[in-house]
Amino acid sequence: MAGHAKGDLRLVGVSKEFETFTAVHPMDLTIPDGSFFALLGPSGCGKTTTLRMIAGLDQPTTGRILIGETDITDTRAHERNVNTVFQSYALFPHMSVLDNVSFGLKRKKDKDARAKAQAALELVELGHVGGKRPAQLSGGMQQRVALARAVVNRPNVLLLDEPLGALDLKLRRQMQIELKQIQQEVGLTFVHVTHDQEEAMTMADTIAVMNGGRIEQLADPATLYEHPASTFVANFLGQSNLLGGQVVAGSLRDGTVTVRSHGVELAACVRHLPEGCTEVYLGVRPEKLRLGPDGGPNQLKGVVRDVSFTGVATHYVIEMPWGRELTVVQQNDGSARARLGEPVTVSWRPEYAFALDASQDADAGAGMQGDHG
Ligand code: ATP
Repeated sequence: MAGHAKGDLRLVGVSKEFETFTAVHPMDLTIPDGSFFALLGPSGCGKTTTLRMIAGLDQPTTGRILIGETDITDTRAHERNVNTVFQSYALFPHMSVLDNVSFGLKRKKDKDARAKAQAALELVELGHVGGKRPAQLSGGMQQRVALARAVVNRPNVLLLDEPLGALDLKLRRQMQIELKQIQQEVGLTFVHVTHDQEEAMTMADTIAVMNGGRIEQLADPATLYEHPASTFVANFLGQSNLLGGQVVAGSLRDGTVTVRSHGVELAACVRHLPEGCTEVYLGVRPEKLRLGPDGGPNQLKGVVRDVSFTGVATHYVIEMPWGRELTVVQQNDGSARARLGEPVTVSWRPEYAFALDASQDADAGAGMQGDHG
């Protein structure tokens, strides 16, 4: 029976078209049982549509959705072993918190509904508020009640649609850590939709970065950050400095390349460069750049055009002789700061640089992180 399906969640060739518009192009995706998975991308990239198809709220145009070996594509939403927590918590206002959480179990005539609901409330550290009405709780507490209400049903898959979107930043950060702990404790598969890259990176084991209805890259957070496969991922997850250039030695097979950029030869590591590609962007994260020579091959000279002190770090804008600017972020470790107008050498280790095919838009994904739709 679909309601008891267990195992990995699989999307096979799943797509969604709305009249003439393709919201999700045919997609193959396996989400391992018990993992914390995030669908991350800017507004309109198709992440909510993907989630709604998994939930059974939208019917795929093509493809099949499976949990383990059970095909749930044609199973109705409430018969799937899948629960969703939305940004709007939709608790029943006239019921106590405990009754809200035990509601689904009571409907299924579960004898232990109250005890299970109480245990779920304790899991979200709200064991003491069972007798209160939702309106007597803060937004963050209500969101935790909504989570307890979903978790108590022990769905095989829990879908989270921007569940922290309504919370202020401090509470969001706290809830991110708690959600991750809860997921580890209950061992359910969590599929989390968000446009917030930091949120996805904090919580998920694996992230699928979506863009224009397609998965652009799927990997663990550190791999996505250190080895982006496209300019979109490089810009959408954090910030990247991209320098245009030509490959003069090495290839994907070697794992490293030498790139000539503005007359200087620079070394980079490669994981995602099409064979034979010579026009490239050499990318490096701002915090991987240091001011001052390091004795390695990667050194560029420039002039400090802006210095901003943020407490833990100092952000520099360095103008290159060809007019482009590089962003450098240095930890404030007590060493002297560079001054405005000072000529400096910017250096970085070859393993910190990545090379990408330059046929892409260098600015793809840039400035989209705060995009709330
Ligand atoms: P957001 O964060 O803004 O919710 P999203 O990545 O979740 O964005 P979707 O809601 O999946 O994006 O929408 C993907 C695209 O499909 C959007 O361009 C949207 O306008 C379109 N779309 C979604 N639902 C429908 C619908 N019922 N009819 C027509 N177009 C739709």
